[in-house]
Amino acid sequence: MEFPYRTYSSYLREKYGTAAYRVGVDGGFSCPNRHADRMGGGCTYCDPFGSRSTYLGETEIDLEGQIHKSIAAMKKRYRAEIFMLYFQAYTSTDGPVDELKALYDRGLGLYDFSELIVSTRPDCLDEERADLLASYSRADFEVWVELGLQSIHGETLDRINRGHGPDEFYRAMELLEERGIKRTVHLIFGLPGEDRAMMMETVEAVNKLKPEGIKIHNLHIPSRSPMYREYERGELTFPGSERHISYLADALEIIDKETIIMRLTTDTPSPRNSTPGNFLNKTEISRRVAELLLSRGSYQGKKT
Ligand code: SF4
Repeated sequence: MEFPYRTYSSYLREKYGTAAYRVGVDGGFSCPNRHADRMGGGCTYCDPFGSRSTYLGETEIDLEGQIHKSIAAMKKRYRAEIFMLYFQAYTSTDGPVDELKALYDRGLGLYDFSELIVSTRPDCLDEERADLLASYSRADFEVWVELGLQSIHGETLDRINRGHGPDEFYRAMELLEERGIKRTVHLIFGLPGEDRAMMMETVEAVNKLKPEGIKIHNLHIPSRSPMYREYERGELTFPGSERHISYLADALEIIDKETIIMRLTTDTPSPRNSTPGNFLNKTEISRRVAELLLSRGSYQGKKT
């Protein structure tokens, strides 16, 4: 199917001439938003597993084991050859810079990876960490940072206990852009207290910064997250598939056509993913969003 937006898979195929795959690893990090000197508990939608790759399950494996296991699985399943190393779980810049360097070096030494991708929080990036990440960039080797924002609205960030505000996000984006590091921004649609207008304000604010990639998630609540308790008390409602699809179509129209759309839904492993249980899968969401845009005679960036 032709998609009226720039999909990540089409971008990777253009770049590498074939499919390329992320090897998502847990570098053994924690998250500063879970530290005792913060409000504690982390973001209210986050469970104890952070954002660990589905390939790894929920058990501990060392870095070497994770990488070998994931690559073997993807080679077998997809006949894959090109892999990108993705420090995915928790906050992958949360540590002393020399320890971060040793860890990234170790991971990169285990395979001929084609990119380094590091996931983190806006308040866990400073000049030193940004310089370290930039030091891995070469003409034929890109470094990407995935930055969690979720919403540009300070009141929402407080409500979900993000532990940072919009200013830290703007600063982190600047640090990365100054060093030529590619930026992917994570957003969540359907957060408590947000309506369509607020979500689109977030998209517009992010779009002005021209990130290379955007990931959009629907609000999904793992059963071991603090937000799940709110849900059980009947304090939350959140969008179902149809509403999420219409939010996505509206958002894509105001996102620059060059920005890579890396995700449109949440992909929490099923044992952790308690509600909503009847959400359409990501293939179906992508197809339906494309159909909705086409039915409007529209496409990514039409309203930019
Ligand atoms: S920043 Fe990420 S890992 Fe940390 S609490 Fe929030 S969602 Fe969880």
